[in-house]
Amino acid sequence: MDFNDTPDDAAYRARARDWLAANAQAYREPPAQPQSRGDMVGAARSWQKAKHAAGYTGITWPKSMGGQGLSPMHSIIFNQEQSHYHAPTELFAIGLGMCLPTVFTHGSPEVIARYVAPALSGDEVWCQLFSEPAAGSDLAGIRTKAVADGDDWIIDGQKVWTTNAHLSDYGIIVTRTDPSAPKHKGLTMFIVDMHAPGVEARPLKQMSGGSDFNEVFFTGVRVPDSHRIGAVGDGWKVSLTTLMNERLAVGGKPSHAPDYKLLMDFAARIETDTGPAMEQRDVRQRVAASYIADEGIKLTQLRALSALAKGEVPGPEQSISKVVVAKTMQDMAAFAMDLSEAGGFITAGAAPDLAKLQGSYLAAAGLRIAGGTDEILRNIIAERVLGLPGDMRPDKDTPFNAIVAA
Ligand SMILES: Cc1cc2nc3c(=O)[nH]c(=O)nc-3n(C[C@H](O)[C@H](O)[C@H](O)COP(=O)(O)OP(=O)(O)OC[C@H]3O[C@@H](n4cnc5c(N)ncnc54)[C@H](O)[C@@H]3O)c2cc1C
Repeated sequence: MDFNDTPDDAAYRARARDWLAANAQAYREPPAQPQSRGDMVGAARSWQKAKHAAGYTGITWPKSMGGQGLSPMHSIIFNQEQSHYHAPTELFAIGLGMCLPTVFTHGSPEVIARYVAPALSGDEVWCQLFSEPAAGSDLAGIRTKAVADGDDWIIDGQKVWTTNAHLSDYGIIVTRTDPSAPKHKGLTMFIVDMHAPGVEARPLKQMSGGSDFNEVFFTGVRVPDSHRIGAVGDGWKVSLTTLMNERLAVGGKPSHAPDYKLLMDFAARIETDTGPAMEQRDVRQRVAASYIADEGIKLTQLRALSALAKGEVPGPEQSISKVVVAKTMQDMAAFAMDLSEAGGFITAGAAPDLAKLQGSYLAAAGLRIAGGTDEILRNIIAERVLGLPGDMRPDKDTPFNAIVAA
């Protein structure tokens, strides 16, 4: 494994670094105050537009789709450099990371011509409408139905945990179009207009205080057949494109997650009855364990980068990274909050670095669920990395309406 940039990568990194230094100074520090929804959306759109004008969007997308036609390494390099800033990238992450690659891989030329460019330039925001109250890990168990009506389809049902649905213009939605087929075979995907009559997004309140995701209700929502993505009944296959992109997107450590250094500095400043916390044996052992976990994550990610640099696609072993990252983030933050005793309740304004650890503690629980729960990722590692026997899937070949009725 070679950890150094190739000459081409180094030149690209230098250009990206210079561009960011000239354009991202406003994002050197995180916002001092919580932003209003309007300010947050406005800032995200402006940043997306600035990157688009400079050729730093759709880095790996084909040129025919308005992308840069560069390698995954170029995208990783730009993201590494961008991570030195607190730029507002999250609003577009799901749309550009997962939804639009699905649209341009499986959509019709008309759909591609209409939707890809405005998403890339930051004019339109997208969400991913997959999970439902009774279908998350078992995504093929969704019940939202689409029924043909002339040249249209009528969608009825409910999605949940839909990140940014309340801020989105469009979404990709998986629906059941043939309940008499086995669960993976009766699905079809569509593009749905989030402002259409019958679509209602209700934000959910999170324990962090934010409202990033929603319940979304569909009541008689009319979608033209031209907005179908892939063939009728091929929704599972089309969804796999989205899920593969999701696994790549969520596998790494979030750019501003705390690391062992933050924990070490923090422990050095905490005074206990017997002196600085960092001088205590059990505290030093926890910091050392965090260092070991951080190094393991870094090396696992470098292994994935090496695979990408050789033109390979990182496989199911990417799941290992996500299981360890989310758990490490939660453990580190929980330990820091334990160390600070009652101070663990102090909020952002009073203690910025503790606020970062608190934020991480509250976010890590979601990270252990989103994009595949720990248990599902462990199943993937067991079956596809270690070659152990498969999980029980007794309803795989049963007609869906027979499972629901059972
Ligand atoms: C922060 C966040 C953002 C999200 N954003 C989106 C989004 O934008 N769009 C979207 O569609 N969804 C989104 N989701 C939903 C997410 O995909 C689901 O929460 C996830 O797939 C788990 O599904 P579930 O919540 O229904 O849990 P369930 O699938 O009901 O799982 C419940 C528990 O059972 C365990 N379990 C289930 N099956 C098995 C099995 N076979 N073996 C062992 N254990 C099992 C799980 O690990 C879990 O502990 C988001 C979730 C979070 C937390």
